Amino acid sequence: MISGGVHPLSFKRLSRNFPIQEFLQPERVVLPLSQHTGAAATPVVKKGDEVVQGQLIGQANGFVSSCLHASISGRVSSVDYCYLPSGRRSLAITIENDGSNRRIETISRDWRSLASEQLVEGVRQAGIVGMGGAAFPTHVKLSLPPGRRAELVILNGCECEPFLTCDERVLREETAGVVEGLQIICRAVGTGKATVALEGDKDGLDEIVRPYLKKLEPELKVELKILPERYPQGSEKQLIEAVTGRQVPSGKLPIDVGCLVFNVQTALAIKQAVTEGWPLVQRVLTLGGLVEKPSNLRVAIGTPVEAILNFCQVKLDGRKRLVMGGPMMGQALPETSLPVLKGTSGLLVLGPREGFSEEAPCIRCGRCLQACPMRLAPAEIGRQARLGNWEGCRQLYVNDCIECGCCAYVCPSRLPLVAWFKWAKAELREKKTA
Ligand code: SF4
Ligand code: SF4
Repeated sequence: MISGGVHPLSFKRLSRNFPIQEFLQPERVVLPLSQHTGAAATPVVKKGDEVVQGQLIGQANGFVSSCLHASISGRVSSVDYCYLPSGRRSLAITIENDGSNRRIETISRDWRSLASEQLVEGVRQAGIVGMGGAAFPTHVKLSLPPGRRAELVILNGCECEPFLTCDERVLREETAGVVEGLQIICRAVGTGKATVALEGDKDGLDEIVRPYLKKLEPELKVELKILPERYPQGSEKQLIEAVTGRQVPSGKLPIDVGCLVFNVQTALAIKQAVTEGWPLVQRVLTLGGLVEKPSNLRVAIGTPVEAILNFCQVKLDGRKRLVMGGPMMGQALPETSLPVLKGTSGLLVLGPREGFSEEAPCIRCGRCLQACPMRLAPAEIGRQARLGNWEGCRQLYVNDCIECGCCAYVCPSRLPLVAWFKWAKAELREKKTA
């Protein structure tokens, strides 16, 4: 059980029972070179070049960076700046689809014959990042720092954000691929112990997964853990606490307590990269909220949001809000031309913020304190942030805030706490680099 957290209505029944649909041939894709944690990739194509699906178009720029590949075949129509959902700008490669669906040649490999370094290099070349939203380069996570040992790999199937069911669908429909990905991860980091973590609301999914895990013994010991539903249990540090009882100390990483956490779709992408030589060019996301037919869609990375809305015949009027990601941690989209990124798990159409009263003064009710899964003091950090006391925020561990939104969710005064914490963190980052 995690400390703190909340239990919002899940709305998952709206989309979880529909098989994954495909929308893989949009007219164009827009592929930002900076859609992961770390340095932006460097473009290796220019305007006018012809590319095929799976071709390298952006080379990783250093260790903490990620390669980028064409998700459709066609002609590069521009290499120019675009906006990301976060509001930042990134250089992006736009490809116009030529409809030929040409792809790179790939070679099948038996991962059992490969050394750990070869597995990690395969993941690096495939441009795989954490697909649960963080978009941290996966080859970096698989490269253990000196003196660290991975005791346990956790496959994160919690998907605790309301509405989102894409990971659940992938695990239901591609169980063998995901489990093989887990095996590859365990071999790459040299551990024989893993846990598959699901939340209790995933109707019958454990019965589908269990036989696949049984087959891995005795080579790999995998426990299936069903956890009580709680948001943000799918967050890395919270999941480690829920599964092992270990707490990742402030400023430390999961590997410092012997654990590594991987998302379901990341595991599948690793399997496809290592065994088929196929880079990360597609993902499954949930389209949900106020839409007639909520669904899970496999889309090409870089597909503009408006193309997905058109494909699914979703009409937006001015009163509806579009959110990329889940309703708790997702980002409101100012426009529909923005593209789907490697870490995009959902597109939600939500109603206007009706019934929400204006922000009121803090009444010191303490609800935010109880809800914070990082054991922070949100009301006090918020007070310091409003005063512009960034050093005070740092001393109250604002950098440990995972921006889960639990504090703002329970706050009766409707204080925009997370926005303040993001602001404080940005100011502290700036001060550090100045
Ligand atoms: S957003 Fe930050 S401060 Fe608020 S509950 Fe989550 S971790 Fe705690
Ligand atoms: S929940 Fe809101 S009103 Fe209550 S203590 Fe926290 S910030 Fe203040």
